[in-house]
Amino acid sequence: MAIGTALLVGYYVYSARQQLGADYTALVGDIVRAQQTAPQLNHALESFIDEPFGLHLRQIHHTLWLSEQYLEHVRHGLQQHPQLHRDTAYLEGDLSLLGEQLIELEARAEAALVDRSLLPELQRLSMDIEATMAWAYSELNTAVHSAAGRQRLIMQRLSWAVTGLVLAVMLIALTLLAAVLHLQRQRNTLKMLMLTDELTGLYNRRHLVDAASRTLTDAQRHQQPISLLLLDLDYFKHVNDTYGHPAGDDVLRKVSQQLCNISRATDIVARIGGEEFCLLMPNTPVDDAENVAERIRHAIAIEPLTHLDRHLQQTVSIGVTTSLNGAQSFQQLYSLADQALYQAKALGRNRVESVLPTSPVSQTNETHHPLEERG
Ligand code: GH3
Ligand code: MG
Ligand code: MG
Repeated sequence: MAIGTALLVGYYVYSARQQLGADYTALVGDIVRAQQTAPQLNHALESFIDEPFGLHLRQIHHTLWLSEQYLEHVRHGLQQHPQLHRDTAYLEGDLSLLGEQLIELEARAEAALVDRSLLPELQRLSMDIEATMAWAYSELNTAVHSAAGRQRLIMQRLSWAVTGLVLAVMLIALTLLAAVLHLQRQRNTLKMLMLTDELTGLYNRRHLVDAASRTLTDAQRHQQPISLLLLDLDYFKHVNDTYGHPAGDDVLRKVSQQLCNISRATDIVARIGGEEFCLLMPNTPVDDAENVAERIRHAIAIEPLTHLDRHLQQTVSIGVTTSLNGAQSFQQLYSLADQALYQAKALGRNRVESVLPTSPVSQTNETHHPLEERG
């Protein structure tokens, strides 16, 4: 079937090329001029038959010469258009006959100049020529016009084909674009799912670790301080046990919201465990980090939390650490913030403690107490 279609298309293209390459304008002009020689010849013959003089014979000679010239042009023109030539092959005989009749007419006119009794025969021959011309040239005219019509049709089909092709290409391009956008959206959603926490919508530990290494590199390059806050909700198990797991989830979402509200756009807020959060603060010295930590602690402590019309209270302990110039690794900073958090838990919870890289354990806002076991 494919071979059949290919052959068909190939044949169509071949014949279309033949048709499209043809210019019928000159041929049409020659046919019209050849047709016009018929009345001229007729007129010259009438004049000669009325007064068979040398002057009128010369007129006949001239008109015959014109007729033969145009006949030759027409035949040559037909050979230039193979398809048309094939279509009008049945006129070949008439055109040859016409050529012979014109030659014969010339000879008979010469003879009639001497012998006037030949004039009626000359007139019959002239009528035969007129009839042959009328038939052959009008048939040729029709054939040329139908060939020109076929040419127009092919042009029209080609323009439809080109339009269809352009539309198809546009459709394919749009489909591809839609597919690419869809894949891009899916990729983004997948990336989001991989990097965020489902319950709170905050970033997860994986994203935090990636972002922290980039942020620390920047801090080191620009010699800027960078702070890390570790937050752990106090006695959160108690919330779950008393009010149920959904209430605990509610609290986790509310706390997350508070963290987002208080942090800056450049900070990275992540949920790194069940009820543990982390706030990475680029370009933030320890004082500012402690202030933010204190604001968070205070905001959560005073947040009125309700679940099924029951009021519950939540507090948070926060460990703070700061690298002066990004010289420490994330693991080192995390470990220092964890020590500070451990200390905040040990010192009674609902508080902020700091441990800086240079001083292994330091306290900012409260007096030291022996470390307790953290929950
Ligand atoms: P501490 O003050 O010492 O931190 O006490 P705590 O009770 O907060 O600490 P603990 O580690 O004993 O309890 C954490 C609890 O957090 C235990 C677990 O049920 C709860 N938890 C962890 N993930 C989720 C969660 O996604 N939803 C809820 N509702 N609870 C969670
Ligand atoms: Mg915990
Ligand atoms: Mg806890």
